[in-house]
Amino acid sequence: MAVRSSGAKSSAGNKRSVKKAVSLAETKAVAAAKVDARADKNSLKLDVNVFKEKIVHHLRCTIGTSEKKASKLAWWQALVATANELIFDRLTQTQYTHATKDTRAVHYLSAEFLMGRLTVNNLVSLEVYNTAKSALQELGIDINELCEEETDMALGNGGLGRLAACFMDSLATLAYPSVGYGIHYENGLFRQEIREGRQIERPDSWREYGCPWEVCRPESVQEVPIGGFVETQTAPDGSIRKVWHPEHMIKGVPWDIPVVGFRGASVTILRLWESRPTESFNWDVFNAGGYVDAQNEKAAVETISKVLYPNDSTEAGKMLRLTQQYFFSSCSLRDILRRYNRTHFHDYGEFAKKIAIQLNDTHPVIAIPELMRLLVDEEGISWDAAWEIVTEVFSYTNHTLLPEALEKWPVYIFEKLLPRHLEIIYEINYRFLNEVVEAKWSGDDEKKRKLSIIEEGPCKMVRMANLAVIASRKINGVAEIHSKLVRENLFPEFSTLWPDRFCNVTNGVTPRRWMLACNPGLAELYNEIAGKDWPLHLDSCAALRPYADDPQIQKRFMDIKFKNKVALAAEIKKLCGVEVDPHAMFDVQIKRLHEYKRQHLNLLYILHLYRKLLADPAMRIVPQVFIFGAKAAPAYTLAKNIIYAINVIGDKINNDYRIRNQLKVVFMPNYRVSLAEKIIPAADISEQISTAGYEASGTSNMKFSMNGALTLGTMDGANIEIVAEAGVENNFIFGMSVKDVQELKAKGYNPWDFYNSNQDLRAVVDWLDSDFFTEDRQALASIKHSLLEGGDPYMVLADFASYCAAHKRAEEMYADKARWAHAAIMNSASMGKFSSDRSIEDYVHNIWKLKNYEIKDEI
Ligand SMILES: *Cc1c(COP(=O)(O)O)cnc(C)c1O
Repeated sequence: MAVRSSGAKSSAGNKRSVKKAVSLAETKAVAAAKVDARADKNSLKLDVNVFKEKIVHHLRCTIGTSEKKASKLAWWQALVATANELIFDRLTQTQYTHATKDTRAVHYLSAEFLMGRLTVNNLVSLEVYNTAKSALQELGIDINELCEEETDMALGNGGLGRLAACFMDSLATLAYPSVGYGIHYENGLFRQEIREGRQIERPDSWREYGCPWEVCRPESVQEVPIGGFVETQTAPDGSIRKVWHPEHMIKGVPWDIPVVGFRGASVTILRLWESRPTESFNWDVFNAGGYVDAQNEKAAVETISKVLYPNDSTEAGKMLRLTQQYFFSSCSLRDILRRYNRTHFHDYGEFAKKIAIQLNDTHPVIAIPELMRLLVDEEGISWDAAWEIVTEVFSYTNHTLLPEALEKWPVYIFEKLLPRHLEIIYEINYRFLNEVVEAKWSGDDEKKRKLSIIEEGPCKMVRMANLAVIASRKINGVAEIHSKLVRENLFPEFSTLWPDRFCNVTNGVTPRRWMLACNPGLAELYNEIAGKDWPLHLDSCAALRPYADDPQIQKRFMDIKFKNKVALAAEIKKLCGVEVDPHAMFDVQIKRLHEYKRQHLNLLYILHLYRKLLADPAMRIVPQVFIFGAKAAPAYTLAKNIIYAINVIGDKINNDYRIRNQLKVVFMPNYRVSLAEKIIPAADISEQISTAGYEASGTSNMKFSMNGALTLGTMDGANIEIVAEAGVENNFIFGMSVKDVQELKAKGYNPWDFYNSNQDLRAVVDWLDSDFFTEDRQALASIKHSLLEGGDPYMVLADFASYCAAHKRAEEMYADKARWAHAAIMNSASMGKFSSDRSIEDYVHNIWKLKNYEIKDEI
């Protein structure tokens, strides 16, 4: 890359101020980079003046404005353009290396990628953040303000989509050949506003004025057929051929978002498909004068990638949703085949050697029959050969045991949209039941009924999870306990049939985003104690553990936390208008709102504390701020009522002078990745309180621990593995275990038993059915109703007493500063296992069998 020299423009004075602005870490990084030949060549990384000139150049020549009149948005766009110079060069190098070596690659298919903002992360990964900051500072611009201009890329609901984003970061960092495939939603997850305590959904038009990170790739457009009917042709020799006559063709336009690996190790692509009508689109109708009809159909096709379904852990079951899934799966497979055939010329002998496809949940499982169809119908391969390829290539990750989240599609929808795929599914099912199941459990119709891809009943359904298991080489859960439950409870017969197919890959999160970029104070401490490679080798953070009782390090660690709390307090004031004291214990529950996550258990405890404070005005407690962030699916009434309850109860408590500011409750609106990055570094307590057996893994639990919060949680998902690493004595574990839950369920759970036998519990549950907090008594009463008459499906009442006791332990420990600091440090320094790099290495070794390649500047 050609880089202009900084020239004589910069004054000596400027140079001095630059030197001052560059941190110690940067100086070290610069020194290290000088040893690195590649970085050395790339002087843009090192020179503030060059960076400054580049930004101004882009401001003028790319954005078309000037320093004098540029808006913040324009400055941000110029900053992105500058970063893109580095990124696209590195991308070209990466793709050149992979193409010339004909590498085996993984293709990560996911209907969701919750990327968040990219600016800070990309600059940090390119190691130019401090350079950019200084350059902008000299131009009189605050980099933080610019970064706030970026709208989150919220193309996902929650944990599943954020996991996919962390995996992209790790794949790029570890330089494994890979592509992420998804949907280019025009609207991501809705923006949440709170009006009079209630959630309002607003559209999220994240790229209304363009997104400077993405590039359109017209050369890789795909066309996907849909609808119509299947014709059976019999050749003179008696052989049968199936010909699909689709009703429509949909155009898939790919948008590429480069994902920068740490220190530019490699740049991987996230390829998102946008639906458009084809040029030939229903031309007949158009010519016959049906201009409006044609426009309507055009709108219908454009609708496919219009909006992300806002259901987290619930199945949408809508025709459009299946269309979305099929559309992006088919585009992605065609793209994979196109790239493969560039060098293999339709010889599929090497296909399974070169291609691994990971299915993130059942959303892309339609890719299985689609690949069968492409190979058999379009490439002319025999069924058996195609099936061998398919079963070598695909693997499937299960993310939930909740029955309402396991996707099933009515057969009639398949008949309408994907008639040929339905035939293929029937064929797969027929062979599976009559060859595999019959061989194992001869004559056992009950087993066949249970394992069949087709669920019989008044409305015949296609079970996508069964299809995934039957066709996948490996099936994994996302935490040890979850994978065990997948084997034992969800797919017991399948795991008897194929024990070797089932495995575990515990989730992880990227320490680049979730520590280095969002918590610079803590990052600096680890730079000093563990060396600056800790974001690549998170295990090395264990170097801090021996200092867990060192008063100086404890002070340093807790000062960092305090500074983060001060910043969050300002944000709370700005967003919620509530004054909170950063000395108070910050107790945080941020995640999607769902009954199984039990935000209402948290709320009951808050009511319990409030009630005690009112009963005894002289009582002094550890001052506490309860912080919530959560979106509810728009049709999930109880979840929305819980949001309303948090808001109105918070309002009452925050304005009750009698409790002397000892208790505050804030609901931060529009929870998303960029808000999580502000909240997590400031948390003292991480609430992870799902009913045991329901949270597959959780990933916010990991983010919190890394940043020195103590987990107050159940033995569920990855909490179990987190406390095994950080010490159960440094966290607050409470409630029933998975086994306890199963036993209580078997015995017959009766919430009234707990309600009747615990006075405190009874009082707070009854409080919900009063007009103490709001005129709209009904909304709060509905929560009580679900806990009693509703049967309390997630056993909130059964865990209440134990939850209160855990809080009491937390409050006591918080009062002992040294003990708390010890626990916070032990948590943060013990999270090596939960780097998404470790997860990716597990996938690579157990499932994908990839090699990584050093990317050199070769072209
Ligand atoms: C990490 C993350 C999640 C997942 O949180 P859980 O508490 O594990 O469910 C959801 N949303 C966002 C924005 C996240 O960053």
